[in-house]
Amino acid sequence: MSNKTDRALPVRIGRLSELANNLWWSWHPDADLLFQHLDKTLWEMMHHNPVKFLQQVSPAKLDGAAANPAFLRHYDGIMLAFDKARSAKGTWFSEKYPQLADRPIAYFSAEFGLHVSLPIYSGGLGILAGDHCKEASDIGLPLVGVGFVYQLGYFIQRITGEGRQDSIYEPLDYSATPLEPVISRDSEGGLLKVEVGGRCVHVAVWRVKLGSISVYLMDANVEENHSWDRELTSRLYGGDQEMRIRQEIVLGIGGVRMLERLGIRPAVFHANEGHAAFMMLERIRVLVQAGKSFKEAADAVRETTVFTTHTPVPAGHDAFPFHLVETQFAGYWESLGLDREQFFALGEHPDGGAPNFNMTALALRLAARCNGVSLLHGRVSRQMWHSMWPERTEDEVPITHITNGVHTPTWIAPEMNRLFAKHLGHDWLAKHDDPTFWERIENIPDAEMWQVKQQLKHKLFNFMRERVRQDWITETAGPVRVLTGGTLLNPDALTIGFARRFATYKRAALIFRSLDRLKKIFHDEWQPVQIIFAGKAHPADLPGRSLIHEIYQLARDHNLGGRIAFVENYDIHVAKHLVRGVDVWLNNPRVPLEASGTSGQKAALNGVPHLSVLDGWWYEGYKGTNGWAIEPGVPEGVSEEYRDEADAEALYRVLETEVVPLYFDRDSDGVPRRWIHLLKEAIRTAAPTFSARRMVKDYAERMYVPAMNASNQN
Ligand SMILES: *Cc1c(COP(=O)(O)O)cnc(C)c1O
Repeated sequence: MSNKTDRALPVRIGRLSELANNLWWSWHPDADLLFQHLDKTLWEMMHHNPVKFLQQVSPAKLDGAAANPAFLRHYDGIMLAFDKARSAKGTWFSEKYPQLADRPIAYFSAEFGLHVSLPIYSGGLGILAGDHCKEASDIGLPLVGVGFVYQLGYFIQRITGEGRQDSIYEPLDYSATPLEPVISRDSEGGLLKVEVGGRCVHVAVWRVKLGSISVYLMDANVEENHSWDRELTSRLYGGDQEMRIRQEIVLGIGGVRMLERLGIRPAVFHANEGHAAFMMLERIRVLVQAGKSFKEAADAVRETTVFTTHTPVPAGHDAFPFHLVETQFAGYWESLGLDREQFFALGEHPDGGAPNFNMTALALRLAARCNGVSLLHGRVSRQMWHSMWPERTEDEVPITHITNGVHTPTWIAPEMNRLFAKHLGHDWLAKHDDPTFWERIENIPDAEMWQVKQQLKHKLFNFMRERVRQDWITETAGPVRVLTGGTLLNPDALTIGFARRFATYKRAALIFRSLDRLKKIFHDEWQPVQIIFAGKAHPADLPGRSLIHEIYQLARDHNLGGRIAFVENYDIHVAKHLVRGVDVWLNNPRVPLEASGTSGQKAALNGVPHLSVLDGWWYEGYKGTNGWAIEPGVPEGVSEEYRDEADAEALYRVLETEVVPLYFDRDSDGVPRRWIHLLKEAIRTAAPTFSARRMVKDYAERMYVPAMNASNQN
């Protein structure tokens, strides 16, 4: 299956291939530079994919590097850091909990956003999983990821001249990824076999390394399977309910069997969202087969299971009709020691409307440690699932919260990283989750900060222009695309960024509610404003797709003067440019439907203040001096229409009276002093608290360690 044709590397730099096949390089800019120094042009041509790069780089360049003392010094330094990172020695977890380091946490997720070359994520959930794993590696937490590799991934987005979203699926070339086979038809015992609805599905397993940890990805696209079953891991969130339940069986049940086959014995299992909840049933089954009663088995599993719920949007919780569960699980409940009714009761949600098997309800019943992903989302979740614990008050519903955070080394701009290293200390990353450390942000001279911000903005605009130019050259873009791609944007205008999934509750078009008002804001001669959009709509989400269409029409409207741009194909790479390069990050979902949101955290880390309704992380992150709140001041319970109107009004007001004047208030050197002060506050308050480091340490101390201790007692 793998046909990697790594070039024979000169022995002295032979470990470059090891580095290329561990995504650790991707969050270490020095490692990125090492590849760049070999052949910068090729590195760009290969879109920073070191696996492909090493297949193509010329022997002469390699030999040259192997004889170049400066290159070798750099190489040796990187390899030293790489080896240290993989040993987990001296890390936070191994120092604090040395006795717990030998049995891992198994982290199950339907998607992982690890790198742009591995399109096995669609949005926030996947990015969060990726950041969680990278941080686990950084702090030495023993963790293994369990998920899928989707050959067709999530789709590539193209927008037609009329503003319609096309979805393109390109098969993944495994040989151009860091995936390595760990279970294949050539392995001892052959492919992994998982029973799904009475059929045997064969599964191959791949591993991707992230520093000291591994993520194992299952793949049903093997010849041994019927074509229908090969589709199981073909597309992320494709297919119907039946496909979905079968996927979740492979993820949950197959995942547990895969770990067993690999000889990995986790102390704790973490389900990232309800998609993976069948793993709890499979673990119970194993214990029941070993002689325990259902109750004993369920208690043992519950104590060692962590569950994170990610959305207050009801449609975001998988619920399967009973007849589907019946066809897929007939014969399975007996092996749990249950009858049909007892089995179905495990997925019952008393308030769930239709009598479905609800994956979140299942997970809440079988995990002792459950959480939402922000303070507000924890509260909303307790409300939402209260009916499962009718004898308790809402506050006693056993769902706590751990607020999401972002992996700092992944999301920080290299330019900002250098600025921090210069003024906060070279080891700033080692202390970045300590709020008191960030008081040093005052050491950064305003003018230097402003210069870096301007540099990042130019980089974004160049990136957008080059994309459009490539499309123009290859004649895949007409004049409308050239315009909407951002060629008319003005680098001196206050630039708002808005990038996220096009789900209707996120209200991407809210800012267009009063076009007359917006035109005045955009066209002010001395204080111009513009906005850049990006985001995909799920192909089946017609309202989401029509929002993209609507924004496209506005972007080409002469009256809006080229002040609106849309970047196609929002992914990790686009996100990095946007969250670093714009001036303000806008978020205006319907409260309280945004569970956390993490793009605003990435932006704040890079000195891009947040302008947002008080939802998700901003409900706790907003301090009055570090960004802006869109506060409509209307009571709860008003109609959606009325609420949208009030939110739009509040958005215009804060733009006109606060954001715009502050940005254009310059000193005699052209530096917006008060703006810089505010963006430093944004960094100071967001960088430590909304980091993946703070988040993963919270998971470790509040969830994993107590569960590990419970596991040791069994
Ligand atoms: C961070 C990120 C997201 C999630 O951002 P939200 O604020 O939760 O919408 C989605 N997609 C990509 C590509 C991202 O980088």
